[in-house]
Amino acid sequence: MIEVSRLEKRYAGNHVLKGIDFHVRQSETVAIIGPSGSGKSTLIRCLNLLEQPSAGSIRIEHQQVHAGAISKKTIHALRQHTGMVFQAFNLFPHLTTLENVTQGLITVQRKSRTQAQEEGMHFLTKVGMAAKAQSYPAQLSGGQQQRVAIARTLAMQPKVLLMDEPTSALDPELVQEVLQVIRAIAQEAITTVIVTHELRFAQEVADRVMFIDGGKIIEFAPPAEIFQRPKQPRTALFLSKYL
Ligand code: ATP
Ligand code: MG
Repeated sequence: MIEVSRLEKRYAGNHVLKGIDFHVRQSETVAIIGPSGSGKSTLIRCLNLLEQPSAGSIRIEHQQVHAGAISKKTIHALRQHTGMVFQAFNLFPHLTTLENVTQGLITVQRKSRTQAQEEGMHFLTKVGMAAKAQSYPAQLSGGQQQRVAIARTLAMQPKVLLMDEPTSALDPELVQEVLQVIRAIAQEAITTVIVTHELRFAQEVADRVMFIDGGKIIEFAPPAEIFQRPKQPRTALFLSKYL
């Protein structure tokens, strides 16, 4: 489903990703963990070309992209398969909850308003936000806004769901309601890659956990292995600090 090979990213003199290779299977949930500045966001942003790779290649479904001059058409084609959820929910403030979810369905997927609203309500129900369909983002808590943002992304029915620390902008008491929604999604067929500082959550929901440090994958294995029997001293050291 996702195949990354020899991926590198440099910003001017800063070599951030130093040769990343991995494969994610259909329906798998992968959690990316690692210290601040290790390149987690850069990696997940490269996956839908929010950042352009400096070297290497990425394949999502049948769409293969090589580093170099990447056309708008290729970026568009790759993003057909991916949906991204950000730390800052990025909802449109002037649109209601339901309008936020239906907007892409109408303007991008050219669905009728009725069809879009029907699908939108389905996904709002899924994240427990149907009752707030007519509310505006400013009337919602951070956790509720993030659940709407997740519904908006899911409504586009991406093959791959990418999330970069979806709970780290939230007050602690709102984290669980969002994790609960993500937990439910992880059990579905959608292939999910999530960067998270919630190590216990990663341990519980991920099929495999990727530990990144210094722009390299140090270890990529099932949670039982990473958390109970890490093979690399750097993994063990990181976990001893954060778990
Ligand atoms: P955190 O856990 O704090 O979110 P991270 O693992 O997501 O960290 P990245 O955001 O990927 O780390 O950053 C990795 C490195 O790349 C850092 O040294 C950062 O300063 C640098 N970097 C990230 N984005 C840019 C950019 N747009 N321009 C220049 N340098 C950048
Ligand atoms: Mg980050």
